[in-house]
Amino acid sequence: MQVQELKKRVLEAIDEARKEIISLGEEILLQPELGYKEFKTSARVEREFRTMRLEYKKNLAVTGLKAYLPGGSGLGRVAILGELDAVVAPGHPQADPQTGAAHACGHNAQVAAMLGAGIGLWRSGVHKELDGDVVLMAVPAEEPVELEYRRRLVEEGRIRFMGGKQELIALGEFEDIDAAMMVHLSVSKDAKKATVGGTSNGFLAKLVRYVGREAHAGRCPPPGINALNAAMLGLMGIHAQRETFRDEDSIRVHPIITRGGDLVNVIPADVRMETYVRGRSIEAVLAANKKVNRALRAGAEAIGARVEITEIPGFLPVLNQPLLSQLFARNLADLLGEEAIGTETHGAGSTDMGDVMHLLPGIHPYIAAAQGRGHSEEYRIVDRDLAYLVPAKALALTAIDLLVDRAARLREVKAGYKAKYNREEYLRFWEKVVTGGETA
Ligand SMILES: [Zn+2]
Ligand SMILES: [Zn+2]
Repeated sequence: MQVQELKKRVLEAIDEARKEIISLGEEILLQPELGYKEFKTSARVEREFRTMRLEYKKNLAVTGLKAYLPGGSGLGRVAILGELDAVVAPGHPQADPQTGAAHACGHNAQVAAMLGAGIGLWRSGVHKELDGDVVLMAVPAEEPVELEYRRRLVEEGRIRFMGGKQELIALGEFEDIDAAMMVHLSVSKDAKKATVGGTSNGFLAKLVRYVGREAHAGRCPPPGINALNAAMLGLMGIHAQRETFRDEDSIRVHPIITRGGDLVNVIPADVRMETYVRGRSIEAVLAANKKVNRALRAGAEAIGARVEITEIPGFLPVLNQPLLSQLFARNLADLLGEEAIGTETHGAGSTDMGDVMHLLPGIHPYIAAAQGRGHSEEYRIVDRDLAYLVPAKALALTAIDLLVDRAARLREVKAGYKAKYNREEYLRFWEKVVTGGETA
């Protein structure tokens, strides 16, 4: 059968490039860079795109790249994504001694897998026999860290969003894409080597500032307005809402006080807090967020203080497209055996791939090729073939499934998907959140 023949050729090409793909992954492991600063990693990816003589764009959302592997007839476009950024784990053996950045979330394997899939399709020439294009996207800044640096980039007008995929949506770089796939590494817990499907929480972030009035705390407190007391009542108000959160919404509100007063003998007049509001759907997040804001304002009202609430876009929940997940799982099963593939349920973490999945069908499966706590100095890739080669193969095979037979499977995937937003609606949604229109 023709599909099997195409798949065989791609698998052979990836196996022939095995050493190369592994050393790509290991090379990126040794030069970890934080989000929106992935300059060396971006240059490394560009080198591969040039070697393949692909048409590509660069400097998208600061460090992102996008390359096209053109198919025979332009009946659709399937994107394969790889995240460029690292996290901070200074004790990690491969950490950058200057910045403390380390690939303790395994994103280096994503880049190797994305390029490996591209190498397989390109060297075998199979991409030309598909009825649509495969698009390789190197995406910046998935980890929501270094918020001060990113705020500066926002102020300089270089980005609008903290997350790289959010920024690429804003730039319109997903407008010509019909479906998006990526793979994330996970830490192996049982016999399963990969898990597909499932959902995750989304979140909103917020900064809270209570403004009171200073006064001598011992000699003359009455004219003071105690911003710390206002904040504590705000916190208690939040806790008093918890019994109204529905189990099925998986709401998590976890505020911290980051400034609680300055001098012990002065009534605190400037108290600051931060919190996330997480939940399984954006409706659930917004509903919980209204209660949180109501409680925060009640604290201020009780004491006569003022509260300033700054809403910051978080990430939208992950919604894996079922048919796309099925196709990917079938290819994984062919590579690893049926019994090695498990299903994801609901995860409480978040990723900006969730945002992408609100605009187009996508998948975010896991490959269990690592050990040690994620985001820590212990984290290691323990199975290189599983980390670098298997995802490259499964991604390339799924792209073939989607784009053969005049892209029939891709059409089915699109038919089984309803976009929550288009680009304009998406931007308007976050704009409304930031300006308080969705959150009051
Ligand atoms: Zn991470
Ligand atoms: Zn990650």
